[in-house]
Amino acid sequence: MTHSQASVYFNLETRRTTDAICRRCVGAGAAVARFLAGDRRAPTRMARESMADKQDYYEVLGVGRTSTAEDLKRAYRKLAREYHPDVNRNDGSEERFKEINEAYEVLSDPDRRAAYDRFGHAANGMGNGGDPFGFGGSPFGDLFESFFGAANSSRRRAAPARGQDLQVTVDLSFEEAVFGAEKAVELTRLETCEDCHGTRMREGQTPPRCPTCGGTGEVRRVQQTILGQFMTSTPCATCRGEGVTITDPCPRCRGRGRITQARTITVTVPPGIDENATLRLSGQGEASPQGGPAGNLYVKVRIKTHPHFTRQGKSIHLQIGINVAQAMLGDEIEIDTLDGPVVFKLPPGTQSGQQFRLRNKGVPDMRGGERGDQLVTIHVVIPKTLTGEQRMLVEQLAATLGSDVSPQPTNRGFFEKVKDALGV
Ligand SMILES: [Zn+2]
Ligand SMILES: [Zn+2]
Repeated sequence: MTHSQASVYFNLETRRTTDAICRRCVGAGAAVARFLAGDRRAPTRMARESMADKQDYYEVLGVGRTSTAEDLKRAYRKLAREYHPDVNRNDGSEERFKEINEAYEVLSDPDRRAAYDRFGHAANGMGNGGDPFGFGGSPFGDLFESFFGAANSSRRRAAPARGQDLQVTVDLSFEEAVFGAEKAVELTRLETCEDCHGTRMREGQTPPRCPTCGGTGEVRRVQQTILGQFMTSTPCATCRGEGVTITDPCPRCRGRGRITQARTITVTVPPGIDENATLRLSGQGEASPQGGPAGNLYVKVRIKTHPHFTRQGKSIHLQIGINVAQAMLGDEIEIDTLDGPVVFKLPPGTQSGQQFRLRNKGVPDMRGGERGDQLVTIHVVIPKTLTGEQRMLVEQLAATLGSDVSPQPTNRGFFEKVKDALGV
C-alpha cells in the first residue's frame, strides 16, 4: 500500500493544510497519517477529533432530520428558554445555549440546512449559502487561497530554478599555477535556445495557458469522506505543473527551450593558485529550464609536479648539491629560481642540510600580499671515487685535520648550536 506524496490536503473542518494524509484512504484509515518530507502544517489526526467533538445539529435541537421549519422553531424556543444563561445557572449551560443557537442558525436557513445535510459540519464555514464546490468564483476561492496558498503557491511564486552547476578540471603546469594563466576549457552545456529565447514556442509566439489548470500548474479536487471534506492539490498532469502548453514548439530546440552546445571557455587562473583550488565562473553553467539565472561553472585546478621545485604554500623549495671544496671554501654559485638563475654567494663552511632563503622568489600571494620566498637546501656531495691527484690532495688535507672524532649530540638544542658556532 503506497500513500501519495504528491498532494497537499486542505481539511475543510480544521481549515488546515496537511500532506500527511493518505490519499487513497484520505485519512480515514488508522495510522495512515504519514509525515512526508517537509513537515508543513502538522495537524494530523485532524478531522476525526473535531468531528467527533461536534454534536449533530439535529441532535442538539432534539429533532428529526425531516422536521419542518415549524418543528425546528418550536424545539429551539423551548431549549433556548431552558438554557438561557439568565435563567440557567448550571455549569455548561452557556455552552449549550451557544450550541443551540448555532444549530438553529444553520438549520433555519434552507440553503445552509441543505448544505449541512449533504456535507455535515464541513459545510459550515463555507460562507452562507454559496455553492461550496464551485471553486471558480465562490467565496471559497479566497478561503482556499488564504490557507492553501500559503503552502502551495510558494512553489508558483518562487523564483524560477537556477540552471545546473557544471564542473571541469583544468591542468596547470607548475609555473602556470605560480604566475597565473589563461586556460581554455572545453565543455558541453545546455544553453537557452537562441531562436525562441527559452519560450519553447516557434519564434515570436508565447505559449498559451494550460487549459486544464488555467495556468496555475495545479489541479484542485474536493473529496468527500466520512471525516468531512478534503481539498487536494496536485501538479497539473497536462502541463506537468508548468501552467503553459507548447502548442507550436520551436523547431530548433524542439520545444525544450534549451539546446546542448559545445563551448570553449577561457578561464583566467590567478597567480598563486594552489592544488585543489576551485574557481567559480558565475553564470557559466547550464541555462535555467524556466528562464531563471544560469548555473555556475566550477573549475577545479590540478597542478603538475616540477622536476626540481616543490611548493609549500607560498614557499618554493629547491635542493642543490655542492662539493666539499665549495662547502669548505665558499663559492659564487648559480641557483635556479622560477624567475631564472640568480648568483648566490655560498659562504665558506657551509654545512650539509643548511638552508638559505632567497627573498621574493617564491609564489605570489593570491590576495595581493607579499610574495613568498625560495628556500634552498644544501647537500654536500661526497665523491665516491677520486682521481689520483684528488686523492693526493685530500690526503694532504687529512694530515692537517688530524684524526680526532667528536660525538655529535642528536637533536641539538639552541644553546648547543650557539656554542658550536662560537667554537666553545
Ligand atoms: Zn527554441
Ligand atoms: Zn496545466
